[in-house]
This record gives sequence, structure tokens and C-alpha cells, in this order.
Amino acid sequence: MILNGIIGSSGLAMAPAAILATKSEESRSAKPECVNVMQEKSLLKQACQEAKTHIHQLIESSTGRLTDSDIDIFYGYECILDDDELMQEGYNLIEKEGLPASLAVKNVFQEQMSEMSKSTDTYLRQRADDYRHARDLLLQFLTDKPVTLDKLASYEKMILVADDLSPLQTALLDARRIKGIILNHGGETSHSSIIARSLSIPAIVGVKDATRLIKEGDIVVVDAIDNRLIINPDQTERQLELERIERFEKKEAASRSEKNWHCQLNDGIPIQLQANISGPDDCQNMVDKTVGVGLFRTEFLFVNRQSCPSEEEQFEIYKSISEQLGKAPITCRTMDCGGDKEVPYLNLPQEENPFLGNRGIRIGLRQNEFLLPQLRAILRASVFGSFKILLPMISDLSEIEKVKDLIECAKKQLRKRHLAFDESIQLGIMIETPASALLADEFIQQVDFISIGTNDLTQYCLAVDRGNHAISDLYRCFSPAVLKLIKISLDAAAKQNKTCSVCGEMAADVKGALLLVGLGVKSLSMSPSLIPRVRRNLAITSLHQLRSVAFRCLSMGSAGEVEAFLGRSYPTRVFH
Ligand code: PEP
Ligand code: MG
Repeated sequence: MILNGIIGSSGLAMAPAAILATKSEESRSAKPECVNVMQEKSLLKQACQEAKTHIHQLIESSTGRLTDSDIDIFYGYECILDDDELMQEGYNLIEKEGLPASLAVKNVFQEQMSEMSKSTDTYLRQRADDYRHARDLLLQFLTDKPVTLDKLASYEKMILVADDLSPLQTALLDARRIKGIILNHGGETSHSSIIARSLSIPAIVGVKDATRLIKEGDIVVVDAIDNRLIINPDQTERQLELERIERFEKKEAASRSEKNWHCQLNDGIPIQLQANISGPDDCQNMVDKTVGVGLFRTEFLFVNRQSCPSEEEQFEIYKSISEQLGKAPITCRTMDCGGDKEVPYLNLPQEENPFLGNRGIRIGLRQNEFLLPQLRAILRASVFGSFKILLPMISDLSEIEKVKDLIECAKKQLRKRHLAFDESIQLGIMIETPASALLADEFIQQVDFISIGTNDLTQYCLAVDRGNHAISDLYRCFSPAVLKLIKISLDAAAKQNKTCSVCGEMAADVKGALLLVGLGVKSLSMSPSLIPRVRRNLAITSLHQLRSVAFRCLSMGSAGEVEAFLGRSYPTRVFH
């Protein structure tokens, strides 16, 4: 039997299936005849404490294994469990309605979640998931302790099959035993997929009825390269898959140990590969720190807090990054908040379409009391490292002009304070909107470099909300329409002899990287763990071949046609 889903984390694995059974909601929530109020209240208090301790232990054990943004998800759960009002509602239900603690928790969270999941705001809908995960954790401590993997069959190696996994559960997975993940739910951008990628565990998610169709102990091949699950392959298939996995693992191991991330095509042409980071801890994952940072998503310093980090606080963080990276470039994107990145103290009104609303540079310019200190902090850090400033969500020339005025203002203020900075710090813009690609010729005259954010460029070009799972099949960066916008931007940069890099997820996808370099991109930035694989695939290809494939793609009419052609031009073998 062959099943398909969505590739959550790429890779290959084969092992017996271990089904993670979850208790039915009903069995937890039956209302008993009589309840010992004191006892249930103290159970709830204790469970809440234990759940928070569990989260803390997890955060500690995840440092270095997971990225800062993965870890921020767990701080989010802690905030929910710290909400006194929410817990008080739980105590009230125990006291006034005689409910057992588990049922009280279920009712209280249900109310919150149903409000949020009805919201048109993507952020709030995602928050409902956070509440669900926090509730489940609390319930587990109230009933039978967390659904840990001890409950799984004790195979030496296994493929975990579950309805869904919370990010907390995913983070606990031991990659030495769990060789692959299959979930009924989830998508490419769901948090469990993101964490599976950080842990390098192959995952296929959104597989309809996986927990029903796959039986405990079935031998399963998770082919998260060609998006196939083979259930109980015959002996010949098994042997072939084993050999394929062995080759794949050898190459993965070799590439992980590569200490040099500098990249050349097989005809000697250099391609710059840099890292995307969200905070200082991510630098630890940069095996080769000399390549530098192509995108520092500074907004992660602003989210999950009650107030804005001060200039001084930001300066210390930026400086600590330069201490780790020496003179390597650090491209610091100014706060790209809004959209799905909620920052409570910015007091942004609820919007119908937050991705089309107040986000990125729009917030920075409307609330420059937040942007100005950030610019000062980056400028001050530029004495210690090679900082560049990158502006998100630009769609009009006036925005660049206004930020340039703000940078001048920040410089003046620093001079007054006798603080040093790099007078000629470079300024760049993200190309994330069709407007910025179409006007790149004009915009680039005002800046030193551009960086294409294919994640947003794809959603705005195709009018497909990147967070909406219902239409995720329409979200395709390989659409020739997106490729044309990329090409226009590249040509504009080439005319002015300025750098155009790509820092969206397309750069981290092997086929995407090959296509981008074929279109003329000379600099790609991606999650550090993905650099070796992209590097290895570029190193075996010539610019001539890449160019001829890319130019044919530009004249096609659909994403499907481009994807099929790329599949034929760069056989799967190349990607292992
Ligand atoms: C992008 O839009 O491609 C990008 C890199 O920015 P983010 O994913 O942070 O929106
Ligand atoms: Mg973006």
C-alpha cells in the first residue's frame, strides 16, 4: 500500500510503525457523582506547576538542539499556564459546579479555543492551537502524566504514527530511535513540521487516516523526498529501499560534518550560502561561521514579551552575535512584526487580513518610537561586526526615503551621545511584494543591496495566504509568475552592479536553489542545518546546465509544469 501526504521534513527512513494512541476526550471528561472540591483544586494547582516545570526542563534540554523560534513556542505555552484568570475560572468550575479538575480544564479551554478558532485573524487561529497544546499538557498531568514516548512499543528504531503531535511532544523525540514521523494532521508550516526539520527527522504529515490504515508493527518506508509512504514493502522493495537509505544517510552524515560552507559550482563559479537566524543561540548551529548571516529575523526579539526590548538590550544582543561571528556579515532585518507575528505592546488593531495589513516597515514607520531605537542599536553594534540593515515589506519608494531619514536621525543622535558607528553601513530592502519586484529598477538606486523573500513574494503574487491550510496546494513558489518577479529583481540589481540574494524557504529547497542559481542568483540564505545539502547539490552542477533549465521554466504556464520539468532535469538521485 502506498500513501501520500505533505512533506513536513525531508529525508528517508524505514522501520516498524509504532502507533501513538491518544485517549478519547470522553474518557477523560466523564462527570463523576461527587467530587472532593479541595482535592480537585489542589490537583489542578499541582498539575499546572508540574506542566510548567516540564516546559522549563524541555526548554533547557532543547537549547542548541532547537532554534530560538522553536523554543519561543514553548514560552507561549508557559504564558498560557501562567494566566491567573484562566486558572481561576477552572477553580470556580470545580467549586461551583462540582466538576473534576480535568473536566473543568477542558471546559475553560474549550471556551477560549472556540472563540479563537472562529476568528478571521490567522494569528488568533494559530493561538487556538497553542491553547489546545497547553490544555493537553495540563490534562496529561492531571490524568495519566504526559503522553510520552515510553508508551510506544519498544522497537529499537521506529516510525511514529500519530493523529497529531504537539510541538512539545515533537521536541521530546529521540532522533536515534524515532526514524520518521507520520501524522494524520499538520502541514508544511505547522510547528511540529518545523521542529521535525530542526531535529532532522523525516516527516510526512496531513496523511488522511494514517493511524487507521497503518497497523502497529507494519514495516513503513517514509520517503519524504518523493512524498510516498510504502506500507509493508515486499522483500525486493525492502532491499532496494535499505540501500537507498544507506546511501542517503552516508551523504547526510558526510555533509553534516562539513566544516567549510563556502560553495562553488562544478565549473568553479562561487555561490554565497549564508545562514538565516532568529537570535544569538542560532549562531551555535553555524558550523562554518565565516559565511555570515543573510537574514537575522530580529522580530523574534520583540515577540513573546510584555514590553519592547530597550536600545541597550538590543545593542548587547547584536554585539553578542558579532562576538560569535567576528567580521562575517550580519544582515539585520528591522522588526518585521504584524501579520502572523503578534506583539501585544504595539497595540495593533485586529485586522481582517493581517498579511495585507499593518506589518513590517509599515509598523516601523507608523510607530517609529520602536524602529528608531532599533536602528541606533544596530548602528552601535556596527563598530563590533559587519552589520547591514535590511528593511522588510517595502512596496513604495517613499518608505525607503523615510527610513533613510530615520537612519540619519539615529546617526545624529548617536553623534550627540559621542557613540561610534559605521558611517557607511549598508542598507538593503526585502523584495517581498510584487510592487517591489516591479519597481526594483527604481528602488535599487536608493539602496546597496536587495534580498528576495520568496515566502511572502509567493503569497502576494499568487494571492494565497501562506498560513491558510485550506489552500496550501495553491501556494507554489515554482509558479512561473513568481519566477518572473524574481528575474525582474535580479536584472534590476545586475544593471546597477548590486547584490541580489534570496532568503526565503525556496533557497533552502534543493530544486529551488538550483533554479534560483540558474536564474542568476549568486547568494542564498537559509536555515544553517540545510546549507550542507544545498551546497553539495550545487557543487555537482554547472552554471550552463542550471541556466538552460531555469530559462525554459520562465516560459512555462504553470507551477506543475515547472515542478515536473525540474524533476526530470535533476533526477531524485541528485538530491540524496
Ligand atoms: C520571506 O518572506 O521570504 C522572508 C524571508 O521573510 P519571513 O518568512 O520572515 O516573512
Ligand atoms: Mg517575509
